[in-house]
Amino acid sequence: MAKVFSPTTPIWCPGCGDFGVLASLKKSLAELQIKSKDSVIVGGIGCSGSIHNNLECYGIHSLHGRLLPTAIGVKLANPKLTVIAAGGDGDGYAIGAGHFIHTLKKNPSIVYLVMQNGTYGLTKGQPSPTASPGYEGTVEAPFDAVLTALSIQSTTFIARGFSGNQTQLTNLLKKAIIHANSNKGFAFLEVLSPCVTYNDTYKEWREQVYDLDADKSFDPTNRARSFARVSELNSTGWIPTGLIYTGVVNSLETNTFNNDLPIVFQDLSIDANAPRYEELLKDFR
Ligand code: SF4
Repeated sequence: MAKVFSPTTPIWCPGCGDFGVLASLKKSLAELQIKSKDSVIVGGIGCSGSIHNNLECYGIHSLHGRLLPTAIGVKLANPKLTVIAAGGDGDGYAIGAGHFIHTLKKNPSIVYLVMQNGTYGLTKGQPSPTASPGYEGTVEAPFDAVLTALSIQSTTFIARGFSGNQTQLTNLLKKAIIHANSNKGFAFLEVLSPCVTYNDTYKEWREQVYDLDADKSFDPTNRARSFARVSELNSTGWIPTGLIYTGVVNSLETNTFNNDLPIVFQDLSIDANAPRYEELLKDFR
């Protein structure tokens, strides 16, 4: 018997940037006509990590910092699914930082949506890896996930949106989903998503965002120039948004499957696999 779960109402504070991300995600999935039964959202831990509860789709609430390996497992089991990992910067760039780096290296065809707000909102406002110096006593430089992603040669899609710019964010999300669903690899989309309760950056981010999509001189297909442009904008106080880099590298599934079928399409019955088990056991006898 199948049990049906209806989407719940978000439990976020009024005005939280995550509402904008949820609205864009709903719109993108609807406009791309992706059916609920074909989409899986893997949520992280933190305020943003509950986003899958608010959508009509399959959802997994992953362990803290472990949403990427979970999402990769789902994709490798059934590459026909639209798989979106969605969490916060504390979850992804602190406890999950190792998985983030290695997912950038592996290039699986999933979307990674990071709602970045410079704070741990769920635990009442401690500074996260992207916190600006001065916030709650922070003296460290903020972690820049976009420059990190650009520095890894196997990345194929890097973008940044702002929950205060719905049109751009929906365009970027649709591009990210199309990239992943075309088996082109990992689509990393960071979203500036202010925490209005503990670190309300709406006003300053509105003044700081620099839309690279609107800059006709910018070429997102040249990694070295993208790195230089993002670094230059950062050093002059801007926060670059838009499609920052797109390139071509074999995806994880392309490198993994060869002639093997994904697990979901294999006959996993004991009868079908008994000869293979017997063959394996010979090595231990
Ligand atoms: Fe959003 Fe911050 Fe409230 Fe969490 S604490 S729901 S991040 S506004």
